[in-house]
Amino acid sequence: MTLKGILFDIDDTIFDYTGSERQRVLRHLADEGLLDRFGSPEQALERWRTIMEEEYARFLAGELAFEEQQLRRVVRFLDEVGVVPDDPAAWFARYAAGRETWWAAFPDAAPVLRELGERFVLGVVSNSALDHQLRKLRAIGLVDHFGEAIVCSQEHGCAKPDPTIFLAGCAKLGLEPYETAYVGDKYDVDAIGARDAGLTAFWLDRNRSGTPPVDGIRVIHSLTELLDVTSRL
Ligand SMILES: [Mg+2]
Repeated sequence: MTLKGILFDIDDTIFDYTGSERQRVLRHLADEGLLDRFGSPEQALERWRTIMEEEYARFLAGELAFEEQQLRRVVRFLDEVGVVPDDPAAWFARYAAGRETWWAAFPDAAPVLRELGERFVLGVVSNSALDHQLRKLRAIGLVDHFGEAIVCSQEHGCAKPDPTIFLAGCAKLGLEPYETAYVGDKYDVDAIGARDAGLTAFWLDRNRSGTPPVDGIRVIHSLTELLDVTSRL
């Protein structure tokens, strides 16, 4: 097997989504005077995340447009604390306006992508909207590693783990699946999905959750491990 290209997930793989979102949500709720309506900041975050995951799943399933899922999240979240927003879009816009200042790549992302980029062609396959992810990759200084090879589910028409989105990523790189690896933090959506599409699958388990790997899944705990392990493929 000769590996020629690597495709990456973005959120919680090269971009610290969970950490940056935590900071931004807590600040925004404090600014809106809502943080003390929850038993604790952790409880507020738990509700924000649960609602986000439920509504985001509906976006990925094609039931809601990207912007619609944002507004649904606002209405549901505020409803839990007895607030009816005059303008959910304006509320979300206030949250989003300050968000980019908290956006950050994981510290291992830039050095690893720089080095891998000398040996492989690199790209992205993400369950999101292209404009949103391009803005994010620009803000965290990683967009130049991927050229035009950025595939997002909204534009592609279906989401990971559907095999066609991984194959679309390979096609953007000009490679066959057996020449391509995929790296992502979600075991089912990323690792199993990529494996089943015929790619070499790396599951990035940063928190060492201990989920036992199954056939065809390679487990790494940092992006830095890719430097060594890909040199043997
Ligand atoms: Mg992810």
